[in-house]
Amino acid sequence: MTKYVFVTGGVSSSLGKGLTASSLGRLLKSRGLKVTMCKLDPYLNVDPGTMNPGEHGEVFVTDDGGETDLDLGHYERFIDESLSRASNTTTGSIYSKVIAKERRGDYLGKTVQVIPHITDEIKERIRRLGTLGADVAIVEIGGTVGDMEIIPFIEAIRQFRRDAGRNNVCYVHLTLVPYLAPSGEQKTKPTQHSVSELRSYGIQPDVIVCRSDQPINDSLKRKIALMCDVPNGAVISAVDAPSIYDIPINMHKEGLDTMVCDTLGISMDAHPIDLSLWNDVVRRVHSADKTLRIGVVGKYVTMPDAYLSVVESIRHAGFALGAKTEIVWIEAERVPSEVDANRLRQLDGLIIPGGFGERGIEGMIATSRIAREQEIPLLGICLGMQVMVIEFARHELGLVDAHSTEFSLTTAAPVIALMEEQMDVTDLGGTMRLGACPAMLAEGSQVAALYGATVVSERHRHRYEFNSRFVEQFEAGGLRCSGTSPDGRLVEFVELPSHPYFVGTQAHPEFKSRPDRPHPLFFGLLQAADVRAEGRAPHILDPADVDVTI
Ligand code: GLN
Repeated sequence: MTKYVFVTGGVSSSLGKGLTASSLGRLLKSRGLKVTMCKLDPYLNVDPGTMNPGEHGEVFVTDDGGETDLDLGHYERFIDESLSRASNTTTGSIYSKVIAKERRGDYLGKTVQVIPHITDEIKERIRRLGTLGADVAIVEIGGTVGDMEIIPFIEAIRQFRRDAGRNNVCYVHLTLVPYLAPSGEQKTKPTQHSVSELRSYGIQPDVIVCRSDQPINDSLKRKIALMCDVPNGAVISAVDAPSIYDIPINMHKEGLDTMVCDTLGISMDAHPIDLSLWNDVVRRVHSADKTLRIGVVGKYVTMPDAYLSVVESIRHAGFALGAKTEIVWIEAERVPSEVDANRLRQLDGLIIPGGFGERGIEGMIATSRIAREQEIPLLGICLGMQVMVIEFARHELGLVDAHSTEFSLTTAAPVIALMEEQMDVTDLGGTMRLGACPAMLAEGSQVAALYGATVVSERHRHRYEFNSRFVEQFEAGGLRCSGTSPDGRLVEFVELPSHPYFVGTQAHPEFKSRPDRPHPLFFGLLQAADVRAEGRAPHILDPADVDVTI
């Protein structure tokens, strides 16, 4: 039977609940347990697919085409399991289900209320995770305890322990222990308040994870344990870590997995921990002896979370190459006017990531041209591939007017367009290609060599496609369509054989990279960037030229 861990957060948002939950998932998996994870989000959008990435961060896409919260990306990268849309539930999706049932008359004339109907639907979603064969399901509750929107979720998880049995549920609460410089002290009061708020809803946490910028000493832990009524060992210090991949190791040293296993009655003798794989990842994270600079040219660069999986994928490829990676964010709108070719030329590699809407498109096209002409390694992802195709058409095939019909309906050369079956659908929401799609790679192509395979599967999230009417023209002009859908109709990969690395994919490879298994396309980019870096003088990039470097 599946056991459940609920992770709540208090005091403040952005404390790293997702990473704490993911780290716990990794530790339990390292004990040989089968783990699944889920995020409950208290907003009214039915899913994050309609939310602006500049505000909410990236939309993470699952194999089954779920448009989900970016925390699912952390979950997948840490527990190394492919999740599905069932792993993300929002208030909006719960209400739309309950209201649809009410309209169908399923409630037989009853008054439909938050308790029990909304809470029952939440519990049903949680219970469904238990049908996936996992030993432990970790459920993260978005938002902060004390928020109005979160109350039905807190009530549902309170009830859940009654339904599932005490030993089958563990509550982990994440709080903040701030350091007050004037008094030179770490303060426990916010944690005490947050725990008492949680208790006012009927939930007594089993484990309290305290975020702080300095370690929490034993006497402070004992104080929190006493005030919040948990065993001494159940107060876990979660100090800021140099890399997010350090967190599972730190949490293990603090005893997080031990406390959770104790609460759930999971025998640690039967499930000894084996962290060798993760220790190996951490060793690679910290043993890099060179730095590669990768420019990301996009439209949401002031909100790096909008490209979270891209960033992590770059890092993973760096770990494998023994390289640190410096991400240089470049506002597409500013290319090439303010940020000139010279500045791009000082980078070791470039990525044009996915995106929607016209802002910054001409800058991305200019970037693609610079990368192609100056032989700077470039990976184009989804929209990135589309701009590579547009640029090549304009400047190499002489189709001066080439464009995507997303941006120009009157172009004489619609090299990127909606495919026929999408043309007469007026509801754009219905036309998105979402989730895992297989692709066949051409024998002898660069992408086939990188993947080490000719049949691959990648996740998609887009409406427009390479217009197959132009395939022959591109091939004749030198841009190879190196991967297609199995029926050959949709172009999935393009590459320029005469270039060190000029690869575009219609898919989103960033969703499948893992810290110990970088994605081949990112690895290929970093390899080419590494070769390029060997030829450049060290540190020629003027930091003043960099928008934001993380
Ligand atoms: N806007 C483009 C399309 O819809 C690309 C989408 C993306 O990059 N995810 O096809």
